[in-house]
Amino acid sequence: MSTITTFKDPATKLVDPFGRAITYLRISVTDRCDLRCVYCMSEDMAFLPKKDLLTLEELDRVAAAFIRAGTTKLRLTGGEPLVRRGVMTLVQSLGARLGQGLEELTLTTNGTQLAQHAQALRAAGVRRVNISLDTLDPTRFAAITRWGRIEQTLEGIRAAQAAGLAIKINTVALKDVNEDELDTLLEWCGRQGLDLCLIETMPMGEVVGRSDQYLPLSMVRARLRRRWTLEATDYQTGGPARYYTVAETGRRIGFITPMTHNFCEGCNRVRLTCTGTLYMCLGQDDQADLRAVLRAGADDADLDAALRDAIAHKPKGHDFVIDRRNRPAVARHMSVTGG
Ligand code: SAM
Repeated sequence: MSTITTFKDPATKLVDPFGRAITYLRISVTDRCDLRCVYCMSEDMAFLPKKDLLTLEELDRVAAAFIRAGTTKLRLTGGEPLVRRGVMTLVQSLGARLGQGLEELTLTTNGTQLAQHAQALRAAGVRRVNISLDTLDPTRFAAITRWGRIEQTLEGIRAAQAAGLAIKINTVALKDVNEDELDTLLEWCGRQGLDLCLIETMPMGEVVGRSDQYLPLSMVRARLRRRWTLEATDYQTGGPARYYTVAETGRRIGFITPMTHNFCEGCNRVRLTCTGTLYMCLGQDDQADLRAVLRAGADDADLDAALRDAIAHKPKGHDFVIDRRNRPAVARHMSVTGG
């Protein structure tokens, strides 16, 4: 019997032209957010009309197609995923796919809605969440997020802990904004029993003054090493971070360094926006319009074929450079593709 596989073979796993297996899908479920972090969005963002969004059922259908094709990890992000109306219905339908090809369902959130949703997330099968927090100082928090209240995020963190969710704090390292606090954040995370992940600011979308905010993490790590013992580990979460164990706290610290060290060679992920555009790389414009495929009446085999076609166009990597004239490497904001 022939073993030739075709683009319509649902058993075919997704492998890109560089031999990288695609096993991780990030889904930005909304472009909206209740905060306006200065490095992420401009103050006067124009958000998408509802008709442009994939419905929750359509999002679930695309996720199911990815799982059929070998995706084992899903992350919901945004915008702020927990502000999308009805999002828990999607979390529950995706959670029901755990153990059926899907191994992990997680989300990245600013934490403001977690007090309300943490228990339900856990009940749906979520075990880990990333919570973004760039500072512990209420005034700074309000300035970075343009209007956020830190207490709301801290309350969300407490609720997630109470629900038994493992938490990683995501902190974007910003020159002259929170660079003097990274040490304190590491200590605080140690005391709270949380992992910390530092991220270099990436040139996505027009925002004011990004070239002034860029802080290389190689420098941050050297500074942290003056006080903390960072032991290299091979711990992996499927994402791009490199992890160390902090000997003094027993917790982990990760570094995401798209600028000082691009991590594309091991890239296993693609990103779906809330409008059904599949971006093959966070830092490139290669894309596929899955909404058009879905709304043209695609059956599952058509959808599977569209995924394979898209992955055949995954580029080798990004080439982020912080441009001194402050031009972004890609025009879309991080809130479109999701971090
Ligand atoms: N609203 C959620 C949150 O705050 O985590 C999810 C979406 S947010 C876009 C995901 C992550 O991307 C956050 O940790 C955020 O700090 C980070 N981020 C946003 N813009 C960024 C940029 N230009 N460079 C690096 N990280 C960025």
